[in-house]
Amino acid sequence: MEAQLTGWNGGETARANSRDGESVGQDSILLQNCAELDELYRFTIRINRQIPFIADEHGAVISIAPLWGEWCGARLSDAMGYKFLSRIHPEDRAGLADAWANATRGAEAYVYDHRTRMADGSYRWFRCAAEKYYPEDGTAPRWRGLLSDIDELFRARAAAQASEARFRTAALATRDVIWEVDLQTRLVTFGDLITSFLGYDVEEITSSASWWREKIHPDDIARTSASFCACPAGERWVCDFRLRRVDGDYVHMQSRAFIARDATGRAIRVTGALADLTEERATRQRIERLQLEMVDSSRLGAAAALSAMLSHELNQPLTSLANFIRGARRLLHQGNPASHDSILMAMDAAATSALEAGTIVHRMSELVSQGEGRLSAQNLWEAANDARSLTCLDTAWNNVDIAIAPELHDFDVIGDRIQMRQVFLNIFRNAVDALRATREPMIRVTVTAAQEFVEVTIADNGPGFGGSKPEGLFAPFVTTKPNGVGLGLSICQMIIESLGGGIRAQQNPEGGATFLFTMPRVEPEPQNRQTAAG
Ligand code: ADP
Repeated sequence: MEAQLTGWNGGETARANSRDGESVGQDSILLQNCAELDELYRFTIRINRQIPFIADEHGAVISIAPLWGEWCGARLSDAMGYKFLSRIHPEDRAGLADAWANATRGAEAYVYDHRTRMADGSYRWFRCAAEKYYPEDGTAPRWRGLLSDIDELFRARAAAQASEARFRTAALATRDVIWEVDLQTRLVTFGDLITSFLGYDVEEITSSASWWREKIHPDDIARTSASFCACPAGERWVCDFRLRRVDGDYVHMQSRAFIARDATGRAIRVTGALADLTEERATRQRIERLQLEMVDSSRLGAAAALSAMLSHELNQPLTSLANFIRGARRLLHQGNPASHDSILMAMDAAATSALEAGTIVHRMSELVSQGEGRLSAQNLWEAANDARSLTCLDTAWNNVDIAIAPELHDFDVIGDRIQMRQVFLNIFRNAVDALRATREPMIRVTVTAAQEFVEVTIADNGPGFGGSKPEGLFAPFVTTKPNGVGLGLSICQMIIESLGGGIRAQQNPEGGATFLFTMPRVEPEPQNRQTAAG
């Protein structure tokens, strides 16, 4: 086999040279050259990772370079005839055999890429290129061919293809158009999506930079090129501009690109992505408009809520005020000197109610403007007890038994005194309203604590929420009462949430309603603890 190859390589070369008609005196140099050329040829095919072979007219291998055996860890006889097929990757074998058989049936040339098993069991990609030739001695035609190791090239190309596919998928996902400008040739390449962005047919789009430049809005050209020139090396170039669509309208685009530079810092290529901002701009404008509308309506809403809250909260002290003055007037009218003290008491109570009304107005405006000026530790029992006293003054009270668990003494929360009392008061008043038709009406206030939080539960034995979901009751102006305003619970929620807590309501399994609010707890004042112990 080695002899065959030597004869094939050297012989062919020598014959070719002698046919050139060189003088006989040059023969020795020629022969020496032939030997060198032969050596050079062997070196070339080795360094290029190539394996020459010869096959007969039917494609059966009759001669192959020893390198094949070396690489494949096989004897050269294992390549002869069609035995080489057993070393072809199973996925490529049938295709290669078909292509080789087809070529030998009448073609003059053959090229096929396939994988061959190497000595270590791994497969490498080879390109087999062969051509038919006709020996001068008139014998049957043969095939001479070259197996070239293209493994690295092939894998690099496959990786590049995979990366390009990923790139395309990413572009599809982001709906960005990938583009590239070769600044040497001034040629522009755009991804397929550009046709749908601008409405041009594929044939209309050219790769000439001037064609693209014409599409930029005249007002944007100077700014765009100035921003490009000012882009520092190594930085991303980001620029918004308008591009003309086929129908003459302009679309807002944002281009984000990277400028590749040569060693001297000269820009040589720009690769980037173009995003259509038209929809985004329209959405942004819509959101800005909505925000303005919301600001307006929330201003109006806040004003309406404040006035409604005030009327709700002022109702009680103003009614008391009117009652006390009316009572005092009646006593004065009777002219009985014994009533003097009662009149003074009524006037004092009227003054207290008036002051209370003033404080409520003040606190309400603070609450709406998120004021936190007067926050301090408030004892839960005291707040609940104050609210109970006020509820009992109310004519609607109807002897409801309001029991406050003594454990409430043990817990303080940070809040405003009047606001905390207001929370209990609003919940108690609602319960009293709900308990009108209940025999032995009761309200129970209990407390549980968990780590930094304390949860207050206010349960009544009234009709409950009648199957409707209680979450909605906290929304402003939700009421089931004929004369209700629907603000009591939303005020409770606003107060509790402004103090870092939360409030909810639930239907009792045995009937009745329960309100629960949770707030961050603080160490109680010592005197409160003593009261609790007492
Ligand atoms: P208003 O008292 O003006 O109706 P609220 O916000 O205080 O406004 O209460 C909203 C609604 O929640 C009430 O109309 C009532 O239907 C319901 N509600 C509140 N507390 C109770 C309760 N203890 N039992 C049954 N329903 C209640």
